[in-house]
Amino acid sequence: MNCPVCKEPMIILELNKVEIDFCPNCSGIWLDEGELELLYSIDKPDNELQKLFQQTTSSKEKSYKCPICRKRMIKTQFSNTDLILDRCPQNHGIWFDKGELEKVLTIKSNSSSEKILALLKDMFSYNKSQEAE
Ligand SMILES: [Zn+2]
Ligand SMILES: [Zn+2]
Repeated sequence: MNCPVCKEPMIILELNKVEIDFCPNCSGIWLDEGELELLYSIDKPDNELQKLFQQTTSSKEKSYKCPICRKRMIKTQFSNTDLILDRCPQNHGIWFDKGELEKVLTIKSNSSSEKILALLKDMFSYNKSQEAE
């Protein structure tokens, strides 16, 4: 699968037993539908997390294409924050620009998301040290 932003091939990383697609070039993360729930270890009904996502038309950000179906993704506001995510209109998944997944997990923090946050920080710092070479 290629990154929707820079079109470079993404690598698969395992976070808390969930496979995520990570772009080593721009540090963006693609989560297939349902994977965010897995990262949160949510045992509530599926639509609990979905309610946090509200479609927005106010974003001026460039929209990207879904790496799976190539349809233009929808700008989605996360909860009551200023975070704007890209979501496939056919529910293939959600794209997080660099650092956005960290913010989402910080907002709805629980013990398992703290573990993921630590992993993400490792990941991003690893990426930075590679760029420095
Ligand atoms: Zn990228
Ligand atoms: Zn799609």
